[in-house]
Amino acid sequence: MKKLILIIVSVAVLSTVIFLTAIYPPKFKEQPLVIAHRGASGYLPEHTLEAKALAFGMGADYIEQDVVMSKDGHLVVLHDLTLDATTDVASKFPDRQRTDGKFYVIDFTLAELKQLNAHERTTLDTNNNRIAVYPNRFPIEKQHFSIHTFAEEIELIQGLNASMKKTVGIYPEIKAPWFHLNEGKDISLAVLQTLKAFGYSTKSSRVYLQSFDANELQRVKYQLLPQLSMDIKLVQLIAETSWQETYEMKHNELVHYSYDWMFEETAMTKIAKYADGIGPWKSMLIQQDKNNGKLSVSDMVKKAHNEGLEVHPYTFRADPERIASFATSYEDMVKIYVETLAIDGLFTDFPDKTKQALKALSEK
Ligand code: CA
Repeated sequence: MKKLILIIVSVAVLSTVIFLTAIYPPKFKEQPLVIAHRGASGYLPEHTLEAKALAFGMGADYIEQDVVMSKDGHLVVLHDLTLDATTDVASKFPDRQRTDGKFYVIDFTLAELKQLNAHERTTLDTNNNRIAVYPNRFPIEKQHFSIHTFAEEIELIQGLNASMKKTVGIYPEIKAPWFHLNEGKDISLAVLQTLKAFGYSTKSSRVYLQSFDANELQRVKYQLLPQLSMDIKLVQLIAETSWQETYEMKHNELVHYSYDWMFEETAMTKIAKYADGIGPWKSMLIQQDKNNGKLSVSDMVKKAHNEGLEVHPYTFRADPERIASFATSYEDMVKIYVETLAIDGLFTDFPDKTKQALKALSEK
């Protein structure tokens, strides 16, 4: 009898739970991760410790590091292989450019890199003057910032996690492994050794390791991780072949890597063999027809989810010129991506605005 009552009560409780869930379906199982792209780079020069601290304070879930290597083998946090766009290298070391006119990080020691002032990203105008890429962001002439190492940034984030009782993760990208290997430097091995030294070594560690280089990511998965007794989450970044983002060695020659296979029917099945997630360009997922204004949605996210892959598109920017044509505001753009595609996270230069947009959606 007791048993029967227990069964009846259990069924009643279960039915109520199912009933309530049906009336109040949770908007999201989990809120998408806010990944601070190069830090809170919408407000402070990209990849400065200041931008990282601000991103932390704004509540980012993960903070991104692009990692390149110095001449003396130190890992530094910079987006470009060259220093031209974000530092005063041309005035400090005027005779150190290569024949292509550019100043490469890999030609400078860490001590030399530390002498540079970093600033907001610039580009050259038609008169060869340096101008801001994002005119409404931090003024380019204010440049009392410096370059730091990967280890220094992890120390900052882990220190803030301790003092603020948080568990903010890191999201390093190995920049151009093909370039570093060609220069005689095994950047992937160095990145993994640093991660291990700071305690990021399992799938549950608060780290995603990303790369545009599929060959290298498979080398990380099948060779380096087992060699170091590590197993962390890997993310395959997806580019358009036309960007010429990556090279690969073929017949002793560096040739452009073709991303075409990543858009084929079986792509996600292939990627899921070695990675835990994908990082597509957000415009690959939703496109607007120029003539009739209709939106078309790629099935890449659905296919990725079917294979158990997380999807973290890049890059969500609130600068007026970067709002998608089909959205009325930054918040609306975030809403469209989250509600249409059920993405699992997003790279953004504006962690605060993204947090607010997601909060508004979850409270709807
Ligand atoms: Ca990156």
